[in-house]
Formats: sequence, structure tokens, C-alpha cells
Amino acid sequence: MAKLNRDSLRKSVLDMSAYTPGEQPQEGSIIKLNTNENPYPPSPRVVDAIKNALTSDRLRKYPDPLGTNFKIAAGSALGIDPDSILIGNGSDDILTILTRAFVPESGLMASATPSYLLYKTLAAIQNAKIELVPFTATWQLPPVWPFPEANLTFLANPNSPSGTMVEATEIDRLAQSLKGPLVIDEAYGDFARHNAMGRFQNGAQPEGLIITRTMSKSYALAGIRFGFAVAHPSLVRELIKVKDSYNCDVLSLEAATAAISDQAYLKECIAKIITTRTRLHLELGKLGFKVTPSEANFLWCTHEKHSPDFLYLELKKANILVRLMKYPGHEGIRITIGSDPEIDLLLQALRKLV
Ligand SMILES: *Cc1c(COP(=O)(O)O)cnc(C)c1O
Repeated sequence: MAKLNRDSLRKSVLDMSAYTPGEQPQEGSIIKLNTNENPYPPSPRVVDAIKNALTSDRLRKYPDPLGTNFKIAAGSALGIDPDSILIGNGSDDILTILTRAFVPESGLMASATPSYLLYKTLAAIQNAKIELVPFTATWQLPPVWPFPEANLTFLANPNSPSGTMVEATEIDRLAQSLKGPLVIDEAYGDFARHNAMGRFQNGAQPEGLIITRTMSKSYALAGIRFGFAVAHPSLVRELIKVKDSYNCDVLSLEAATAAISDQAYLKECIAKIITTRTRLHLELGKLGFKVTPSEANFLWCTHEKHSPDFLYLELKKANILVRLMKYPGHEGIRITIGSDPEIDLLLQALRKLV
């Protein structure tokens, strides 16, 4: 009989460190401003859609492996070809599919830093190398991108944890310099001044560019797990071979379809969050924080007197959870834009601390 032997694991798995998601306390009255969830509920249409699916004969059968209804709804909401959409069990699933499809063992991946930490984990699982290129002091790309030969390049735009954006012309410049595809991770794209979706509108089918989106943040569906990629239809056909056949379940497909069909509700939510973001930025400034201007649903900040560790721990004692993040040369706290009452309580706690 085979031994249950830890040494039988692939070396790349043994050697890697696990991706650590933000804390997810499951009980207690915690003000949770650490993982960029939406403070508002999803569109009421989502709940109706899920209830409908529950009362019909849907759970007994497998879901549509391609998510056809979602693709039609998303195509119409975003003005793009439904055939350019690939569905995923959260956009993290999409990022995994892309890595598996494009990056050979010992291949090369690249991204900017500080950014989303999962890219590094995906490279480790794939046994690939990842090069993390520092952003400039103003959170832009270096004039010459040093790894054009990468098999896959990720750019979170808006970026996390900074909330900053790389301008469209810079993205074009980067994409044109690369041999492999550029993945623009637009997890926060709905909160920003601009996004890359226009590249796929009016029948355009760019090659070499892949956009990823999630329903977790702007659509308030982090608990449902649904994300998608937008890419050239010929690429989508290949990527379908790599994904699990049924990577999205019936309920998530129903929820995502209802949510993306309600663009009016989405815009309302985003407008509220941006108003609160502006207010929080201003108030933090008055309290001695240095805040990076954000185009996402969070703010990245440091304090002139207090360390990020101190702020994180003291806020935690006050039952307010923010995200403490440490990168070489960059340490700070990332605060999710909560509801107005939540942000009032955060400011109250901070006024006592600083
Ligand atoms: C939250 C986030 C994701 C993942 O979203 P899920 O759809 O919940 O998996 C991807 N990229 C970035 C930059 C994120 O912040």
C-alpha cells in the first residue's frame, strides 16, 4: 500500500508558502474593512433569481458548463461578444485557468509589485518563475518593461493595495512589447474612471489582451464565487478545455446573470461607495494619514506617527478589521470603503488613537 507520505508531494508544493487571504471572522459584531467586500447587499434581482432556481427542478441537474445565459446577459450589459467570455468560480479561478493554460513548467510569469499576492502563489503551484517589477514612485510602469518574454503577465488595474491606475496608453505600450498575453485584472474596474473593456466593444477582438472581472466586489457577491474573463473567442475556446467542466454551479450562474443584468443598481452602489471614499480620504488626511488617491473601493494609507502594525492591532481591539500589508519598501494598512455608519465608527476609533 502506498504510504501517505508528505515527501511524495511535488517539491514546488512543499517549497511554496500558502496564499493568506484576509481574515474572515464568522461571528461577532466586527466591522469588516479588510477584504474589499461591498457594504451594500446585491441587487434584489439576485435573491429572486436564486429563490426561483431553488423552487424549480434545477439543483438535481448539472449546470450549463458554458454559462450561456450569463454570457448573453454580460455581453449585452458590457457591449461585447458573448463568445469572448469565459466563466469562472470567482476570478481567482480564472487566474488559475490562465496560468495553467499559458505557463509551462519552469516558465516565466511577470507582474508589478506591490500588487495582488495571488499571482506569486499561482506561479509557485505551476512551478514557474515570477518576476515582480516595482512600480515607480507614482505607481506607474517603468519606461521599459524588463520581461517582454514572459509566458503570462498580470497587471491589476486599479491595483491593490494602492488603488492606483496605470493609464490606457501605458497599457497599450506594455501589451505591444510583450510576447505572451497581458492579463488586466479589473477586479476593481467598475470603481475606476476608465477600464479596458472598450477594447472589446463594437466588434473589436484584440489578441494578446485578456481582461478579468469579478462579481465579488462591485456586484456584492463575494459569497457566491463568480468571475469571468474577456478574451478573443478563439482563445476562449482553448481555455474552456482547461477549466473544470462545471466550474460554476447553478446558483452562482443565476445570481451572476441577475446581477450583471441590473446595471442601474450597480451604478447606484458604486456612486455611494465613491462618495464615501472621497469623504474618508479627506478625514484621514485631517488625522495625519498619508493616503494614496484611489480608484477602487479601498484606501491605502500610512500615518505620520504610528506604525501600520499599531494601527491594525488597535483597530482590531476596537472590533474593526482592516488589512495590514507588508511588501519590501511598502508597509501600510488597506481600508475597505464600508457603509457610512461603519466609516463613522472607524473615524471615531481613529480619532481616539492618533
Ligand atoms: C478580489 C480580487 C480578485 C478575486 O476575486 P474573486 O472573484 O473573489 O476570486 C482578483 N484580483 C484582485 C486584484 C482582487 O483584489
